[in-house]
Amino acid sequence: MSTQSETVFVTGATGFIAQHIVKQLIEKGYKVIGSVRSKDKGENLKSLITEAGLDSNFFDYVIITNLIDKQPFDEVFSKHPEISIVLHTASPVDFNAKDAIKEIIEPAVLGTKHILQSAKQHPNIKKFVITSSIVATIDVSEDGKPKGTITEESWSGLETKHLSGPEDTFVGYGISKTHAGQEVVRFQNEEHPNFTIVSILPSYVFGPQAFEVKDKSQLNFSAELVNKVLKLKPNEEIPPLTGIFIDVRDVAHAHIKAFQESQKTNGKRLGLDAGEVTNELIASIINKNFPKVDIPKGSIEKSNNQLQSRGIGFDFSESKKILGFDYIPLEKSIVDSVQQILNAK
Ligand code: NAP
Repeated sequence: MSTQSETVFVTGATGFIAQHIVKQLIEKGYKVIGSVRSKDKGENLKSLITEAGLDSNFFDYVIITNLIDKQPFDEVFSKHPEISIVLHTASPVDFNAKDAIKEIIEPAVLGTKHILQSAKQHPNIKKFVITSSIVATIDVSEDGKPKGTITEESWSGLETKHLSGPEDTFVGYGISKTHAGQEVVRFQNEEHPNFTIVSILPSYVFGPQAFEVKDKSQLNFSAELVNKVLKLKPNEEIPPLTGIFIDVRDVAHAHIKAFQESQKTNGKRLGLDAGEVTNELIASIINKNFPKVDIPKGSIEKSNNQLQSRGIGFDFSESKKILGFDYIPLEKSIVDSVQQILNAK
């Protein structure tokens, strides 16, 4: 373990991605203050950290129950002047919401706005990383048929008018990440903060949970995508899914590199793409590595056809060059996820 003395504030520390960030930060010798939504969640995370053999003296938590007010962020930064790095990962990833504007878009956008404004008032903060998403680059609105090549420069163009109704959480999530990303750009351009800012844009995030899974009914959205294939009966249709993916351990690594190498990353949007994925490919990988699991076989030919008919491509090679590390391949990501799900009883 190195002997970093810097303190990092991680919002949404209980999240799938954030738990890996917290774990990797502690392993690297950073002190971490995580925001959680309740004392129970904070204590639970603390015990997972201890059970994993990490030094829990390097982790503390604060309770922030919602993201829409600025005051809780002001309080954290005033009480903890030792914070020099902020990683803002908290954002609703809730596809069961009943009101996309109130439950998804407002917390994402106001949370981003308020934490940036609050950080600006605290001169000890030198580096800021925000978790965006590739959905901020792709137009997923109902009539939008994305075409061409998506890069770090692309924007979804999504607006609230694209919502088909209050429960349109898919488009709502796209709007939330787009508008939060635009707020970051506005803040950078107009408010000239004393800290560097980097946005990380993960694609579908696969891979194991950072800590032991005690209840597999509570997996987060993207881990649940793998779990769904695992639950298919052998004769069932494999539901189509196409996209690009990144392993969660690489997402955490990218957040850390983003602030450690801020001279290269400042002001950038970094898209994370470790390759293409389909449910057909996921099923093939599970069959190859877990012969006792009885699910549909998965077809490489179907997978290729689905990917070809998508009409869009991604080029995040510039981000990969800047980050400068090799990404975990799909097979390892899926095998490690499935192994963990099968181990959790
Ligand atoms: P997650 O496991 O659902 O984590 C989300 C975190 O944000 C949790 O800590 C959650 O707290 C917190 N949160 C959500 N809504 C909140 C609210 N209204 N007020 C306060 N805290 C709130 O999801 P994740 O996959 O790790 O996502 C983390 C970040 O990565 C998000 O910004 C997401 O948009 C982005 N991302 C994820 C993926 C993916 O495939 N997973 C891909 C691209 C980008 P609780 O634990 O208390 O619910």
